Amino acid sequence: MKIRSSEITMSAINRSQYPTDGMPEIALVGRSNVGKSSTVNTLLNRRNFARTSQTPGKTRTINFYLINKEFFFVDLPGYGYAKIAKSEKDKWGVIMERYLQDRPELCAIFLLVDIRHEPTNDDVMMYEWIKHFGYNCVVIATKADKISRGQYQKHFSIIRKKLQLEKDEKIIPISSLKKTGVEEVWDEIIRQYRE
Ligand code: GDP
Repeated sequence: MKIRSSEITMSAINRSQYPTDGMPEIALVGRSNVGKSSTVNTLLNRRNFARTSQTPGKTRTINFYLINKEFFFVDLPGYGYAKIAKSEKDKWGVIMERYLQDRPELCAIFLLVDIRHEPTNDDVMMYEWIKHFGYNCVVIATKADKISRGQYQKHFSIIRKKLQLEKDEKIIPISSLKKTGVEEVWDEIIRQYRE
């Protein structure tokens, strides 16, 4: 897909700050440090669009990026950073629930997990939340350059098993370092929001 334009449109905490034009939305979520900012920058071919996290767990807003004046890319706040206070975790939950519980514009949520590791319990909770609210889920396995291609399938089955993915739910490997998997992720994004 050709990115003709991408602009950050808003950073929201409250519903009143969400876009109101009814355009389709595709959201990205994952634990802190999973490579979410790098993935956003890679997909949009921008160097420093989404801030890569110097202080993990600090971004507590929902960022809406308008792509090709056609749909929104929604960067959801990361979770699972061990050192944050409980009050911060609660805030994260409130911000997320507010967005997820009633968002007809939202076509699918792309859940980012590290290709190398079994998903954490927080990842499992996030996946269950996505399903609970009734959204399509696509898994992006980040940092794919860290293992050899021959090992992908083994790692996919570990991820699939821990999250208990449904058969038709996809796992797509991506590497922001090597810029691989970008087209595959775009194809899936387009499929999800045009469906
Ligand atoms: P975020 O907290 O989820 O936004 O994660 P970042 O995008 O800030 O990335 C966290 C760390 O992982 C940084 O040190 C990145 O350089 C590294 N990283 C992100 N993507 C990749 C990747 O595809 N390959 C490798 N090898 N490292 C990556």
